[in-house]
Amino acid sequence: RIVHVNGQYLPEAEATVSIFDRGFLMADGVYEVTSVLGGKLIDFPGHAARLERSLAELDMTSPVTTDELLAIHRELVARNSITDGMVYLQITRGNPGDRDFAYPDPPVTPTIVLFTQSKPGLADNPAAKTGIKVVSIEDIRWGRRDIKTVQLLYPSIGKMMAKKAGADDAWMVEDGFVTEGTSNNAYIVKNGRIITRQLGTDILHGITRAAVLRFAAEAQMEIEERAFTIDEALAADEAFVTSASAFVMPVVQIDGAAVGDGRPGRVATRLREIYLDESRKAAL
Ligand code: PMP
Repeated sequence: RIVHVNGQYLPEAEATVSIFDRGFLMADGVYEVTSVLGGKLIDFPGHAARLERSLAELDMTSPVTTDELLAIHRELVARNSITDGMVYLQITRGNPGDRDFAYPDPPVTPTIVLFTQSKPGLADNPAAKTGIKVVSIEDIRWGRRDIKTVQLLYPSIGKMMAKKAGADDAWMVEDGFVTEGTSNNAYIVKNGRIITRQLGTDILHGITRAAVLRFAAEAQMEIEERAFTIDEALAADEAFVTSASAFVMPVVQIDGAAVGDGRPGRVATRLREIYLDESRKAAL
């Protein structure tokens, strides 16, 4: 694989980052994942805009412009012959040359790393036909989940808890209400109405969420942005999640109990089709 590090394209084995990088020592950094379908970038402007917001919230500035970022994404897709897959992008506060809690003053140049992952047939994921199983776990993450930081330990632990329980993912619950999945936004459907948690600092503002809600509104579907409980989800007709890598993925089981008839629902299936069609058309 050819990867990108701080302005250079290198074979992955030659790419290095300092042990003093604050991303490594303090998870002081942000990231984005953009899907590639048919060699083109899905929802790139949304990911670039969220990256800028995450950086601004942490008093960081991007070492590259959005145009340069797009060019790097495209170059990596081309050099690695990616048809379907993703581009991972990470920007950390950089290497101050030592370990200190305070940010370096004056700031050092942020570290930027990008690499590709090839996922042939990404849009034809067979899991979309069967749906996935989730378990509910307590949400004990920090309070600024709207910033897409590289602090992913608890989502990883949640994924392991799901695996151990024979499920595919976990839905996190705070004060009795579902926040989101470990790496996706969560939805239920009741009587044709799509229900998903309102935006705030307690969830990531999914780029796929924004696109799917826009397409749902355009298709005259009813949308309610509010928190819901696991009990309400179990009484719903369907459930699903959205993310840049899973697109729209039906959820058919929660904590071992079937959602609806236990099969992918009509709304989720239709939204997946619309999302894939429309976002391919708009791909860069
Ligand atoms: N919530 C969390 C916690 C996530 O990690 C992700 C994926 N990065 C999402 C939601 C979905 O966001 P997006 O649609 O932008 O991939």
